Amino acid sequence: MNGLMQGVQLTVDRIINHAAQWHGGREIVSRDAEGLVTRTDYGAVHADAKRVSNALRAAGIMPGDRVATMGWNSARHLAAWYGAAGMGAVLHTLNPRLFPEQIAYIAKHAGSRILIADPSTVDLVEQLLKQVPTIERVIFFCDRAGMPETHIAAISFDEWIADQPADFVWGDFDENSACGLCYTSGTTGNPKGVLYSHRSNYIHALMTLQADALALSARDTVLLVVPMYHANAWGVVYSAPAVGAKLVLPGQRMDGESIYRLIEEEGVTYSAAVPTVWQMLLEYMQENDKRFSTLERVTIGGSACPESLIRAFRDDYGVEVIQGWGMTETSPLGTVSVANASVAAKPDEEQMAYKLKQGRLLCGLEMKLVDDAGNRLPHDGKTPGRLMIKGPTIAAAYFGAEGGNILDEDGFFDTGDVSTIDAEGYMQITDRAKDVVKSGGEWISSIEIENIAAGHEAVAIAAVVGVVHPKWDERPILLCQLKSGAQADAADIKQYLDGKIAKWWMPDDILFVDEIPLGPTGKIDKLTIRAGLEGYSLPFDASL
Ligand code: ADP
Repeated sequence: MNGLMQGVQLTVDRIINHAAQWHGGREIVSRDAEGLVTRTDYGAVHADAKRVSNALRAAGIMPGDRVATMGWNSARHLAAWYGAAGMGAVLHTLNPRLFPEQIAYIAKHAGSRILIADPSTVDLVEQLLKQVPTIERVIFFCDRAGMPETHIAAISFDEWIADQPADFVWGDFDENSACGLCYTSGTTGNPKGVLYSHRSNYIHALMTLQADALALSARDTVLLVVPMYHANAWGVVYSAPAVGAKLVLPGQRMDGESIYRLIEEEGVTYSAAVPTVWQMLLEYMQENDKRFSTLERVTIGGSACPESLIRAFRDDYGVEVIQGWGMTETSPLGTVSVANASVAAKPDEEQMAYKLKQGRLLCGLEMKLVDDAGNRLPHDGKTPGRLMIKGPTIAAAYFGAEGGNILDEDGFFDTGDVSTIDAEGYMQITDRAKDVVKSGGEWISSIEIENIAAGHEAVAIAAVVGVVHPKWDERPILLCQLKSGAQADAADIKQYLDGKIAKWWMPDDILFVDEIPLGPTGKIDKLTIRAGLEGYSLPFDASL
């Protein structure tokens, strides 16, 4: 027997419709690369999104066609996002920080017909057009005056939509229709396309809005530092309008001072970003003796969050850090580290251990740990295993069937992460399967050593990689980038680590580098580190 409730399809146009109707005057603030701040609101972005749909239809775009954007976070980008999705096209976000060959590979694979790009990416766009024949039309996210110099035929976004009517019938299609396409950043091989549906995005927004997740509200001012081209923008492009939060879109500049100024000038209460962004902000605050006047909480995810960062935000600035875990394939939020009742009852210091974990599962998802043969492993907080996940917001396959079947026989997706799960249900990433250091048949967590090393007062960023060892297969070495002006030598760092990690985890070498290479999404780029270590050998014969 079917239920007797309305079968309204969960399509994301309903989210921006709701925002426009019930939070229409709520502000959306964008800052461009020059620092110019512009203000609009949900009502106006909704109208622009309808104009985008009309402009796309005029260009012959049909439901299911891919429309690519390559832009920083801005209100124009938001209008393009909803304009494409609302008419049934697929909004495909390209990351301008990837290598040009990777961008070309992705754009070709996605087969986008329209490209809407930031004017600052004009050189890239010119290159792309030579390599991606499917792109028929180029639009730049700007007004006429902001158009870049180029020999290619292109129009400004504002002119493109200017004469289009602000009415268009959105939705009215199956909620399982494709809505957005986002490629993994390729740290684990060729980028692969994750094709979100309207339903998965809608459900993800509701899941992440829970009090024990991102907990956004109509009273929040949200600074979306996570780029819209990365991991579905952590769903904030849906969750913020869903509750009518004021949205602050920071454009290209991510340095500490720029982010700090936006937080203060716009009264930001909540923000989300990867740890490296927060580290830069913290350094700026410390060096310049700044305080926050409105910021209440931040979600940190994308890489493990160092304890020192959580403590500094909490103790020095009164800001709560909530760690989240996820990946492009999981929409992306999967777990969030907030206290359950029994953790909340523990003394503050004991709670810290849980904050450092990646957290508990959102309702609607299932997770399990397995060994290499697929056997389930215990949730004892000690046994590491491959983390598998299942649910309506988890990828079932990659776009173009890349990689074939990606689910096990019970429908679980292999995250490629190695983790433990404790008796309270807290999942803790110990490594990515490919980064784990395998020493004498046992696994050493590179992440754990990095987090502890980053707590040394002189260390800005720490990275651990395994190097081949004749007896132990692999041994860890630690690379440190020191804070500007700070000093430390290998003996200092070793002494600091001593007693905080198991003896056999102690890195066999500690190297100091000017800069730890970061990937296009701000994560430590271990591929580049490993390449740079070619020919490196351990400093002493530790094989005895
Ligand atoms: P890519 O896989 O290309 O780096 P993603 O942004 O999808 O792109 O990365 C997802 C991965 O990032 C996860 O599989 C996990 O390894 C890592 N990650 C995400 N959040 C955390 C976190 N809070 N702690 C540790 N690792 C994390």
